[in-house]
Amino acid sequence: LSQSIKHTLSNHRNFRRSFATITTESKDCSKITPNYAKLVENLSIVQKGILGGQPLTLAEKILYAHLWNPKEIDNIVKSETYLRLKPDRVAMQDASSQMAILQFMLAGMPSTAVPTSIHCDHLIEAYEGGDKDVKTAEMTSKEIFDFLESASKKYGIEFWKPGSGIIHQIVLENFAAPGALMIGTDSHTPNSGGLGTIAIGVGGADAVDAMAGIPWELKTPKIIGVKLTGKLNEWTSPKDVILYLAGKLTVQGGTGHIIEYFGTGVETLSCTGMATICNMGAEVGATTSVFPFTSSMYSYLSATRRHPVAEQATFYSSYLKADANAHYDNIIEIDMSELEPHINGPFTPDLSTPLSKFADFIAKNGWKDEIKAGLIGSCTNSSYQDMSRVTSLVTQALDKGLQPKVDFYITPGSDQIRATMEREGQIEILQKVGGRVLANACGPCIGQWKRTDIQKDEENAILTSYNRNFRSRNDGNSSTMNFLASPEVVTAMTFSGKLTFNPITDSLIDKDGKPFKFSSPSGDELPKYGFEKGRESYNPPPVSTDNTSTQIIISPNSTRLQLLEPFPIWHGSEFHQLRVLIKIKGKCTTDHISAAGPWLKFKGHLENISNNTLIGALNADNEKVNLVKNVLTGEDGTIPEVARYYKENNVQWIVVADHNYGEGSAREHAALQVRYLGCPIIIAKSFARIHETNLKKQGVLPLIFKNEDDYNLLSGNDIISTIGVVGLEPGKDVTIRIRKEKNGSKDFEEFDILTKHTMSENQIEWFIMGSALNLIASNQKSGNI
Ligand code: SF4
Repeated sequence: LSQSIKHTLSNHRNFRRSFATITTESKDCSKITPNYAKLVENLSIVQKGILGGQPLTLAEKILYAHLWNPKEIDNIVKSETYLRLKPDRVAMQDASSQMAILQFMLAGMPSTAVPTSIHCDHLIEAYEGGDKDVKTAEMTSKEIFDFLESASKKYGIEFWKPGSGIIHQIVLENFAAPGALMIGTDSHTPNSGGLGTIAIGVGGADAVDAMAGIPWELKTPKIIGVKLTGKLNEWTSPKDVILYLAGKLTVQGGTGHIIEYFGTGVETLSCTGMATICNMGAEVGATTSVFPFTSSMYSYLSATRRHPVAEQATFYSSYLKADANAHYDNIIEIDMSELEPHINGPFTPDLSTPLSKFADFIAKNGWKDEIKAGLIGSCTNSSYQDMSRVTSLVTQALDKGLQPKVDFYITPGSDQIRATMEREGQIEILQKVGGRVLANACGPCIGQWKRTDIQKDEENAILTSYNRNFRSRNDGNSSTMNFLASPEVVTAMTFSGKLTFNPITDSLIDKDGKPFKFSSPSGDELPKYGFEKGRESYNPPPVSTDNTSTQIIISPNSTRLQLLEPFPIWHGSEFHQLRVLIKIKGKCTTDHISAAGPWLKFKGHLENISNNTLIGALNADNEKVNLVKNVLTGEDGTIPEVARYYKENNVQWIVVADHNYGEGSAREHAALQVRYLGCPIIIAKSFARIHETNLKKQGVLPLIFKNEDDYNLLSGNDIISTIGVVGLEPGKDVTIRIRKEKNGSKDFEEFDILTKHTMSENQIEWFIMGSALNLIASNQKSGNI
């Protein structure tokens, strides 16, 4: 045996000895176990070759092991080099997959090139709870589910029907594997980093690349190392690690970076706890987050019937952690023993306040000391551990005759979790205090909440254990203050109904009039008797390989699904006479650009969903949301109305934006819609990574002010032309010529400003062809795929 194999074997024996062994049946893991031998070989080519044997972080190892051709790369410069990668898997949810599938159909492929799954979770509205809401969704979104199911059958995609669970929980339970690379059309795809997967949220067009079997590109990220030491104390949970970190890094702090956790504290965390931490890494803009392989991952894999994956990962454990002396671009240390619970919000996930200071924070802002609803679960915090700890608190309260003072909702992440909670009596306990168990679906986390307890626009506060809290996110009401906290803190606080209640220090009055203080929560990491499988009817049907005759179901009269027309290719000249449709002031997330909630039902119909384009954007010229001047008519109108008017009159337009334009989600509609309505260029102070790529994929050119202050020079009526789009090259600036009407006269002044861009050679080809998909289809036709 070679020295390196002997070393790996001895590693295997030593490493495995430290794991708690759970013996359960295993399922067929052949399609979900990474090809570790090949990955290690690929990594070795790059590491020993162009990197000269330098020690690497775990994230770097996994990425370089997934290079499309490790022999073709001749240099890697972080934040510059585009890595051409080969993902192991693609996962999509029902809202984003519609457009991804419609685009994949244009590529003309017989089946997907990598294992792919679709999860029906976003289109289920929370109202009466559980199965009733699933049944309603099956009727109201029947055509969407039929479309996705038929397309899944045709292209060999695993189809998880409504009610089976939320994408990230299902992926964690079934597909994530240490050292694998996965992409998903949802920004919280990084959840799987809790199981050692590099899992990255992308737009549908990126998913189409992987599904079409062509390299998927990622600009080499920098790596933030988060060193965890100590151990979480009684009231603190993994959620608090990320709530705290979000406060430190802010919503932009992770942009262009992968967050990699290391340190002695890592071994103290449960696998699902690590998933929670990785899930919410999306909130700081990180490309993804990842943990090294730990004993809790081994236990979780075994408990979820993937013992062979656990064994293989153990064998290759030296691949699944950072090398000694690996270099991180930035290191943040968190002593978990010192960490206290945090509450983040409202309206932004990086406004982080320690629980002990939260009452002062509320008083200082003059907010009403009242909670209207507490919501726990979702893809972020619905693990067995979360639910057992929550149940321990509810049991204490029940014993003292206490009930929540406000509505209390529970969202299980999957039917496996729901069934396990039911078997263990947790659901019964939660229902005894009036908790309403919602469907295994996104519901109020994505605005799918038929809320009846408040008036329209009523100011109120809710507490959730979800991950995202931009304005209007949960109920469509921009006056709902949405705070994020651990499920334990949310639950305890619902029993007081007050925002200023601190369950660690404050008391409630029990049924006998005596003071009652919660003891700290407790619960098992994994169920002693294993997970229930959940209802068989939710199991995805076996993936078939020959479905050439399967028809994809789309009604020509549908208002929710519409076949796509390819975007026109670039005309080959500079742009002239572009109008600034809007100069946006402040935050402009993908929720502002393409709102969710009721609009989710039009995700598969580009024409109809475009009626929500930028309706949340604040116009810097008039300080109004969704109101711009139509320069052709002189009248004010909504943004989609004016954009459509310009399109009908063959006037192309641009958007001028502030920092981090497109932050938030992987929602590619935010890029598709502006392109569809006639926008070839967006100029911003900076872009959020996923959205910037989404724009490029759709043939929109994202330009960045070279001098940020030039933002102040532009306004809504300006006429724009370009110098430098012809002959566009990586790293070469583009000049923007601005023609401005002088106040009150017919004269114009004209001046130039400089912009830069991040387009690679390949991305410039997308722009030239009109979209990335046009390029794929053209290559497919010419047999280049
Ligand atoms: Fe669904 Fe919310 Fe999770 Fe997104 S973050 S997948 S909307 S539960």
